[in-house]
Amino acid sequence: MGKITFENGKWKVPDSPTILYTDGDGIGPEIMDATRKVVDAAVKKAYKNKKIEWREVLVGDKALKEKNDRFPQESQDAINEYRVLLKAPLGTPIGTGFKSINVRIRLMLDLYSNIRPVNYMKGLESPLKHPENVNLTIFRENTDDLYMGIEWKYDSPEAAEIRKFLMDKFQVHISDDSGIGIKPMSRAKTQRITRAAAKFAIENNKKKITIMHKGNVMKYTEGAFREWAYETLENEFGGYVSKDDPSKILVNDMIADNMFQQIITRPENYEVIIAPNIDGDYISDAAGALIGNIGTLGGANVGDNGGMFEAVHGTAPKYTGMNVADPLGLIRGAQLMLKYMNWHEAHDVVERAIGTAIETKRVTQDLAKFFNVKPMGTKEFGESLVTIIENM
Ligand code: NAP
Repeated sequence: MGKITFENGKWKVPDSPTILYTDGDGIGPEIMDATRKVVDAAVKKAYKNKKIEWREVLVGDKALKEKNDRFPQESQDAINEYRVLLKAPLGTPIGTGFKSINVRIRLMLDLYSNIRPVNYMKGLESPLKHPENVNLTIFRENTDDLYMGIEWKYDSPEAAEIRKFLMDKFQVHISDDSGIGIKPMSRAKTQRITRAAAKFAIENNKKKITIMHKGNVMKYTEGAFREWAYETLENEFGGYVSKDDPSKILVNDMIADNMFQQIITRPENYEVIIAPNIDGDYISDAAGALIGNIGTLGGANVGDNGGMFEAVHGTAPKYTGMNVADPLGLIRGAQLMLKYMNWHEAHDVVERAIGTAIETKRVTQDLAKFFNVKPMGTKEFGESLVTIIENM
């Protein structure tokens, strides 16, 4: 047993690391159970001397039920101590109620890069004619922007005070029935997500980086994001990137609304996308739709001292407890974790198993409809991946 530690952003992983997991809400417990079994089987197949020691932390509905608190202090302490977490989706109410725990964990561990690879899997039905051209990775800034959650309800004394301040000081009128949210975007945070994306592009032989922004309207936040990202690329990666030299990684920028239509009409033009927090969140679901299913996408939230790995999708409440949800998104999240742990062999075992499952059409209902086959349950699909791995 041992803790994963970090040195200058590099992971040091013992052979039996303790890794935290949380079951999440809705379909979370079902997909987590399947995912951990698949990961354990892959690690066992790939190595003689390695094993993950899973430790559960209670968060969300389960924590509320058992500890009367959605995010108990002991769970926060464990996350702060162990710093690597496999997380099933957590529900967040719209418009009222508690702050997103997902966001709180990202801020707590300063997980500034949200990395979402979107690659087409052969056999899936996509709305595109050539979905095989979709092979992109989104680097979404994860700690800045409106998602910092600095906001006040329209009828709160704080909102009234801010409206008054803006009127008195700057003669800016905001009507009395307006809620207020703050959109901070900083140079340092833009620089670090840009560095993470550039390093990824260089290490993975990518040919294109696109900076996404809505800087034509939000000039001093998203416009500045564009400027700082270019500045970082030019100053720190000038030997590798260029705006016009095709022998280097080509860098361009694109306004957010245009980006949404461009990834549909010309997905082959996009390989690495650097996006502010909100834009990055939206574009990754849209990109997921291009390959036919967001249920199969995983994401990593990584900083210099920790990581949280998850599915891109949410709790899919209508499927709760029905044994029909697809665990592939969370399995993909776990694969990213294996990559960060430098356990590439185990990652590859999972990849091959997923390939076999798709080829042989052993899939859950979301994909079974494309293949015209009888769907497997979540549990049975997980077990079948384990069997595929054991028989490799
Ligand atoms: P969602 O949970 O992602 O579900 C939307 C739809 O996507 C489902 O109705 C289903 O589509 C499909 N889907 C998603 N995951 C699937 C899976 N594993 N297997 C099969 N189909 C899947 O989005 P939502 O309904 O907007 O959000 C529900 C809750 O999740 C909200 O409380 C939200 O805050 C939370 N959420 C959490 C996270 C997170 O923890 N990181 C992320 C996003 C949302 P069909 O109806 O077409 O079958």
